[in-house]
Amino acid sequence: MGRTGNTEYVKNRQNLTRSANSYHILDIEIDSNINACSNNICDVSHKEIPLYKYTDIPDFLQGNPYVIHGYRVMLPFSLCLKSIFVWSNESINIWSHLLGFLIFLLLMVYDNLIILPRTGSSFSDYFVVSLGLLCYQVCMLCSVGFHMFCCHSERASRRWLAVDLTGISLGVIGCYLPAVHYAFYCLSVWRDVYFFIITILTVSTIVIQLHRKFFSHGWFRYRILIYVFLAGYGVLPTIHWVYLNGGPQAEIVQLFIPKVMTIYCAGVLALVFYLSKFPERFLPGSFDYIGSSHQWWHIIVVAAFIYWHFAGQEILLYRQSHQCHI
Ligand SMILES: [Zn+2]
Repeated sequence: MGRTGNTEYVKNRQNLTRSANSYHILDIEIDSNINACSNNICDVSHKEIPLYKYTDIPDFLQGNPYVIHGYRVMLPFSLCLKSIFVWSNESINIWSHLLGFLIFLLLMVYDNLIILPRTGSSFSDYFVVSLGLLCYQVCMLCSVGFHMFCCHSERASRRWLAVDLTGISLGVIGCYLPAVHYAFYCLSVWRDVYFFIITILTVSTIVIQLHRKFFSHGWFRYRILIYVFLAGYGVLPTIHWVYLNGGPQAEIVQLFIPKVMTIYCAGVLALVFYLSKFPERFLPGSFDYIGSSHQWWHIIVVAAFIYWHFAGQEILLYRQSHQCHI
């Protein structure tokens, strides 16, 4: 579980990092600014990476006072990598999305080699299914990167948070792509209109991140609202699609709508965990390593993406076995 760290040197290292003005892409070079060896951390094995209590960590790592133990602090880049094999309060966050990445990579290979050839899919089916799964994979890796490197420095934490949030945008577009493709299979004009709108919305969420206040505490609510809007926007094309298909009684609507409702319920459930900090809020310190709200958020997101992928496959099979009537 790692030895308990020295509080004083953590504060010193925080000051050291804050005084550095140079800034590099992904902040990997900042590694050289941290004089890890002077703190005897460069030669510890990964099994001895020190872990800290919430009260001893720098401000930028604070955010959930109900997770009390198991924080990695100011690790050099190489030890951030090694720390994935250390049992910390980030272990499940890292491994849940690392496994998620592997699952979506395998699904992409399996679908391209087995499922899509078997169903006689078109080039656009291959393209959309692969792109959707690729979005999920990038989303997973961005999240893994954030949880691995956020402890490196304040600037690295902020930069990787940007990467993580960009990954969420890509994850949402990964849900939209196959859904719009199959739902509007027979209505190619509307399909292209919604593809265009969703692309604009996704790019806009990424551009908004360039605002200097975007990652500030004061913008927390705006950040949440932006992503809720991006995901919630899907209700509009869904209502339009139900109308175009003849209303709630149509066979395809009855097949598809319960799946849309399930994915939105999963999204709301994940968000409730994320915002409420349940269950650790009621038993602070009891879910530091297993069962904290952020871990539930991660697991629900992976499960929701997997569910949505197979839901899309069902609609694909339906579309391929039914003629377009509209
Ligand atoms: Zn996360």
